[in-house]
Amino acid sequence: SDPFPSDLEIAQNTPLWPIERVAARAGIGEEFLEHYGRTVAKVDLRAIEALAGRPAAKYVLITAITPTPLGEGKTTTAVGLAQGLEKLGQRTVLALRQPSLGPVFGVKGGAAGGGYAQVLPMEKLNLHLTGDFHAVTAAHNLLAAMIDNHLHQGNALGLDPHRVSWRRVIDMNDRALRNVIVGLGGTEDGVPRQTGFDITAASEVMVILSLAVSLADLRARLGRIVVGYTAAGEPVTAEALGAAGAMAVLLKDALKPNLLQTTEHSPALIHAGPFGNIATGNSSVIADRLGARCADYLLTEAGFGADMGGERFFNVKCRVSGLRPAAAVLVVTVRALKAHSGRYKIVPGRPLPAELLAEHPDDVRAGGDNLRKHIEIVRGFGVSPVVAINAFPSDHPSEHAVIREIAEAAGARVAVSTHVAQGGAGAEALAREVMAACGEETDFRYTYDLADSIGTKLEKVARQVYGAGGIELSAAAKKQLRLFEKLGYGAFPVVIAKTHLSVSADPKLRGAPTGWTLPVRELRAAVGAGYVYAICGDMRTMPGLGARPSAEGIDLDERGEVVGLF
Ligand code: ADP
Ligand code: MG
Repeated sequence: SDPFPSDLEIAQNTPLWPIERVAARAGIGEEFLEHYGRTVAKVDLRAIEALAGRPAAKYVLITAITPTPLGEGKTTTAVGLAQGLEKLGQRTVLALRQPSLGPVFGVKGGAAGGGYAQVLPMEKLNLHLTGDFHAVTAAHNLLAAMIDNHLHQGNALGLDPHRVSWRRVIDMNDRALRNVIVGLGGTEDGVPRQTGFDITAASEVMVILSLAVSLADLRARLGRIVVGYTAAGEPVTAEALGAAGAMAVLLKDALKPNLLQTTEHSPALIHAGPFGNIATGNSSVIADRLGARCADYLLTEAGFGADMGGERFFNVKCRVSGLRPAAAVLVVTVRALKAHSGRYKIVPGRPLPAELLAEHPDDVRAGGDNLRKHIEIVRGFGVSPVVAINAFPSDHPSEHAVIREIAEAAGARVAVSTHVAQGGAGAEALAREVMAACGEETDFRYTYDLADSIGTKLEKVARQVYGAGGIELSAAAKKQLRLFEKLGYGAFPVVIAKTHLSVSADPKLRGAPTGWTLPVRELRAAVGAGYVYAICGDMRTMPGLGARPSAEGIDLDERGEVVGLF
């Protein structure tokens, strides 16, 4: 028998529609398209106003239980569900993050879905697409260059070189750039100081791109970026350095969402890609505002589990966009629940342990607390959860039955979905449950008010979302908290940078631990993006490559086609 084709083979064997036909499916007229080849277009922001009279789509979040390092299939499920809803006659648009180049060359496994539930053309999506990440990189590094030039030209603003927090970015996993010294050489070569590089997805500019509601808002947010402090403790902004206008110019086209299509030609808006650990981990507000007028259903994915990207979707993104979710899909896999039993160890880059793949419904049951916890997290926002069992070829029916039982006992809707193997037809059962959930009343609520103090906001998320017993701020964090309240950053929402491998702050704790304390090591302010973030663990903002980077397997064949990309 033929082996199941690779994602790239499926992608390359799927005839794509011209993008204007996909746009028409979303009700977006050709006059709003800016073409990047035959199958990719940017959508002019004027389309949002032009479509404002249309009824609003039902807005559905795709989130997940606490994942293994492999990812549990939010993107594939989002794509499959869109196709499943279309099969049931529902017009559906996807809004997803653009993948970063770093992981593309680092770890195997695409970020464009998989099997018969992919966003296409996947080579473009996973590589440069329309250059938005390059624009973010350029805008970010322009500001860095202007900071170092300012120091070199006499430092009129009195920026303290030791308190410059704005680093440089590149869209590559490159650990050798984590810490660098710039300005070496002679007097004409700048002021020597230690700094470093982050991956582009970790740039505050990327978050700004994802949260801006208009070009004017983008420009204003860029101006508010704080790059560091003077010796007297006054913040120095991108506006004061005269950089924000030019940054906005570099980002002008990047603010327009990119339109692509799924394997079954559903419209997919791909836009922005902020990191899931220190940033929001959500695709753009602009794309959601557009997509909300283009369909009956708008589906969007948030990074990692419901405690991570999900919580920020509700508390940060929805607050900015004003959009209200009608339901949330909670993606669950047999392998993740088995991992939550604590009986297996999953090592990224290594094959899954054979024992984990064998039929073990009891291990699935033993990991059930994590699923129950995430159902409760979603309900805490007043939104109805739909449990999506993302079926893998190695699953057993007895194991699916256990998940179904746990979900039903918790009062949640549940369906098995086989979209990776079967496309939209495999997601029809899930689509029916999502439609039913969207028909119910919602009582959407945030975890905290913006008027709460920073400490109260952190505490409410820790206790009410994560299930922590409390929080503990380090001496440094307490000092930063006082400074931020004084500088007027107290009214920002919060982003908690903790591990995504546990609902707790300890990646080794499985299931649904309670009674633990969230250790807040440090607070930082992303003033342009508009949030305060709390560092609660070791956060990598520049990943490295592994012993066998996936780049080693990527090449061009004799016809000039890409091979080995997933
Ligand atoms: P997430 O968005 O939650 O990180 P993805 O949808 O990107 O997860 O899936 C993670 C990886 O697992 C991808 O390589 C994807 O192709 C693979 N995958 C997801 N669902 C399935 C499935 N049902 N069968 C086989 N592989 C899958
Ligand atoms: Mg994903």
